[in-house]
Amino acid sequence: EQSFILQLADETATLALGEKFAHILRPGLIVFLCGDLGAGKTTLTRGILRAMGYSGKVKSPTYNLVEIYKFSRLYLYHFDFYRFNDPIEWEEAGFRDYFNENTICLLEWPEKADKLLPDADIKIFFRFDQSGREIKIQAGTEKGKLCLKQW
Ligand code: ADP
Ligand code: MG
Repeated sequence: EQSFILQLADETATLALGEKFAHILRPGLIVFLCGDLGAGKTTLTRGILRAMGYSGKVKSPTYNLVEIYKFSRLYLYHFDFYRFNDPIEWEEAGFRDYFNENTICLLEWPEKADKLLPDADIKIFFRFDQSGREIKIQAGTEKGKLCLKQW
């Protein structure tokens, strides 16, 4: 199984992991970010976006479910389904179309949209660990495995 565990001592370490992760991300990847509130999912996303050259504010998409970032032809969609509870909202927003070969999708709280979502290529699990975090990175598909091979 393609998976590994890392310890992140502080926020800087989480941001640095995001930057490293950005270098292996490819268009078409779907990444689930799993873990409790405050575990570091948005912080990791911030690190990824910074490494991709985005210098603005990275907002948590908790209220509008998704924040959209455009890098020439590539779109990065940062979802947060914490407050999601209505499948009709999914249909009306057209979220199905957000998952395609020109997009990278990062999803917080995928559990809350469970059946509607495509399979994750990569899952990142966040746990509180003393004062820092322990995270597990796991491939869910062949595409995800190929991606993690470059780690
Ligand atoms: P989530 O999106 O999972 O709810 P956030 O990323 O918004 O969590 O918040 C995480 C909080 O934990 C922030 O206050 C951040 O500074 C802090 N943090 C992030 N990574 C670490 C870490 N490795 N160790 C300790 N604190 C961290
Ligand atoms: Mg968050």
